[in-house]
Amino acid sequence: MSLPSSEVIDALRAALDARAVLVGDDATSFLIDPRNKPTADEAVVVRPADTAGVAATVAICAEHRVAVVPQGGNSGLSYGTHSPTDRPSIVLSVARLDQIISIDPDRWTITAEAGVTIEAVQQAAHAAGRKFAPDWGARGSATVGGAIATDAGGNNVVRYGNMRDNVMGIEAVLADGSVWDGRRALVKDSSGYDLKHLFIGGEGTLGIVTSAVLKLVPATPHETSLLAAITGLDALRPLLELAHVHAPGLISAFELLPDVAIDRVVEISDATKPIDAGTEYYALIKLASSKPVDDDIASFLKAGAEAGHIVDAVVAGTPDQEANLWFLRDHAPPTSCFVEHQEHGLKLDTAVPVDRIEDFVRSVLDAATEIAPMALAYGFGHVGDGNLHMMILPTADEAVEPWLEVRDAMSDRIDELVFGLDGTLSAEHGVGLLLRDRVGPQKSELEWQMMRAVKAALDPSDLFNPEKMIPAG
Ligand SMILES: Cc1cc2nc3c(=O)[nH]c(=O)nc-3n(C[C@H](O)[C@H](O)[C@H](O)COP(=O)(O)OP(=O)(O)OC[C@H]3O[C@@H](n4cnc5c(N)ncnc54)[C@H](O)[C@@H]3O)c2cc1C
Repeated sequence: MSLPSSEVIDALRAALDARAVLVGDDATSFLIDPRNKPTADEAVVVRPADTAGVAATVAICAEHRVAVVPQGGNSGLSYGTHSPTDRPSIVLSVARLDQIISIDPDRWTITAEAGVTIEAVQQAAHAAGRKFAPDWGARGSATVGGAIATDAGGNNVVRYGNMRDNVMGIEAVLADGSVWDGRRALVKDSSGYDLKHLFIGGEGTLGIVTSAVLKLVPATPHETSLLAAITGLDALRPLLELAHVHAPGLISAFELLPDVAIDRVVEISDATKPIDAGTEYYALIKLASSKPVDDDIASFLKAGAEAGHIVDAVVAGTPDQEANLWFLRDHAPPTSCFVEHQEHGLKLDTAVPVDRIEDFVRSVLDAATEIAPMALAYGFGHVGDGNLHMMILPTADEAVEPWLEVRDAMSDRIDELVFGLDGTLSAEHGVGLLLRDRVGPQKSELEWQMMRAVKAALDPSDLFNPEKMIPAG
């Protein structure tokens, strides 16, 4: 890593307002990611206030061959905002592009600058009698630009899709500093390549997203969650099927929670365990609608129990009970509940085709028993869309060293299992630096070559977010 020259810093200061360029101690709060890893030892952080400022910053960096690392809320989990190690770079934060430009209920869209948080978009949509569907735990810090760049998903994907399904158009600054305004609000448009999709999930490697037209959906004032103690992993597929049959179109979340995580969250917090059926797994399911969902829930639970998949269940009857269920879910990651040695653990964002979830979880647990018996292995998350976060980590002091000896072998085995099941190592967090050297076998060499060709066409000098996402050729 190296800093840009004072000539570049002076040029940036001259082009932007007084608050825009941060160096030294002023920059340090931008250089730590949610896994408490420093994204750089030191860096120049540039925070333009508008699209013109982003364009000016990129043009200066392009002229001086200074790499640009885009940053939103810095809540990403794949080391996507880490500075490159082999060339001068700046961090370009979009945090000050924080305006909601317009809300258009008749078009079912909201247009927001890249630094607006997901929570602010949700609140604005709610105030307009509409809903912005994407939602996840980091909603208060994740930004529109960062969520687009990682194609973030979250709890509602099973019904509404990920960011890719909720973005209608974008504005982006390209590698020569030009501004592409692709903020269309067309539901249908078959007029050639849909270029926004290169930037969605592009992890900031092709340009800086500066604003976006986002899709709104009908509000769902009636939202109720239930926690069902299920007989085992093999109950998941039939229960998802039953949920779709008994509550068609109403399932907005279908999550797996293991007993071990629920117990741990309850142990370390004020949360309560609403049922204790002695089962290893629970399904947390949310129904959302414009009308009450009580009958749909009752019908689903009856069918699930009669089919022998549900042992016991509780339905949230108050906002506090609802919040308690989602607190259990949001705190299931080891960063919240098995904190002590979590930094040594494998924390996976894997997805497999939905009909292979059960095979996947079983094979990872079997592999953990064989390779890493000293570690705790558990999985939780978005089982309704095939994305399960598997965690393997030591929880006792004496397990740390033996675990570190087998960690790489465990990681390699998981990669083999994922690829063998036609899955992905990155379902919603992005590849970043974290997975760049592991994802290679997931796609054919031809597919990586096509990606490199796209990168070379749009960013021939490798200005944007170098070293990220695409494995070396
Ligand atoms: C507690 C917690 C829970 C989470 N749960 C989920 C979940 O359930 N589902 C899920 O999908 N994700 C989840 N995430 C991670 C999620 O990936 C991020 O919240 C979000 O997608 C990134 O937004 P950000 O603004 O923080 O981006 P950053 O972290 O700042 O950046 C992420 C990537 O996007 C690039 N980038 C940022 N802004 C721009 C821009 N304007 N233009 C171009 N590139 C840009 C960066 O260079 C980097 O590569 C969670 C994170 C945390 C901390």
